[in-house]
Amino acid sequence: MGPDPKDIAAAASALRDGKLVAFATETVYGLGANACDGQAVARIYEAKGRPSFNPLIVHLPSAEEAIRLGRFNSDALKLADSFWPGPLTIVVERADDCPVSELASAGLSSLAIRVPGRESARELLRLAGCPVAAPSANISGQISPTTAQHVMAGLGDRIWGVVDGGRCEVGLESTIVSCLGDTPVILRPGGVSREVIEEALGRPVLLQTGSTNDPISPGQLASHYAPNAAVRLNAKEARPGEAYLAFGKREPEADIIRNLSPSKDLREAAANLFAMLHTLDMLGADSIAVAPIPDEGLGVAINDRLARAAAPRD
Ligand code: AMP
Ligand code: MG
Repeated sequence: MGPDPKDIAAAASALRDGKLVAFATETVYGLGANACDGQAVARIYEAKGRPSFNPLIVHLPSAEEAIRLGRFNSDALKLADSFWPGPLTIVVERADDCPVSELASAGLSSLAIRVPGRESARELLRLAGCPVAAPSANISGQISPTTAQHVMAGLGDRIWGVVDGGRCEVGLESTIVSCLGDTPVILRPGGVSREVIEEALGRPVLLQTGSTNDPISPGQLASHYAPNAAVRLNAKEARPGEAYLAFGKREPEADIIRNLSPSKDLREAAANLFAMLHTLDMLGADSIAVAPIPDEGLGVAINDRLARAAAPRD
């Protein structure tokens, strides 16, 4: 028996309001937030206590709606047609008008998209009326939950609630396939096997092994976003020619300034981080000086990403 329709409707309305809602899918329980609302997405990282922003899977109620968010090549379309709804996640380039917050894809130009198999999950997504970003509903580093009781034990006091759909039948994460290059690459094995994928596509696919930096196809699998501009951290002032990324009311002299959060709200800063780095890049900054960000709560993940952006390039 599925969840009560009244509970699904209440959960959908909470999602629309920017709250965190855990819900059953056929793979594992997801921790959902409105993917178009950066601050709602920031709450996911906050609740999970993730030390870094990694890109999240965005969930849609139908293939038709999912396909609007990205640029689906013929392989991606075949996969969507063969496996959706179901435990397969497809990575494609974002569509030009994709409304999903950049925080949900951790600044990447690609997006991981899935249409879950569980009817109650799709009903929730339909009623919510927005793409829903949802990693597994567990505290970072703990195992993925396959019952509502698991979710409540870990995250109960940090979320609006959970749509209880009983035990997840697959119990394994979705298979993730990247369709960014000429040959599809399985980034993570999961609920759909390589053989079944190859049969649907009528040709072999690659399987990513080892570290995410393995150059299966150069440039295809960039594991994180880095701005073109150089990044200088813990900067109280901007040097001549530098753009400045502020945090808090104090803004030093600089030609180009963006402010992550004038009120020093880390959730707001997280929601703005990638979009503002992109903007400063687009405006042609050679170098971006970044204000000190407190290393607590979401600040840990913000600083992790900034440190990667500031690291020397390979
Ligand atoms: P989880 O948050 O546990 O559901 O895991 C999501 C997985 O999807 C992680 O392994 C991410 O690295 C992967 N992922 C999400 N978005 C992308 C993307 N745009 N490109 C490559 N991998 C992605
Ligand atoms: Mg997980």
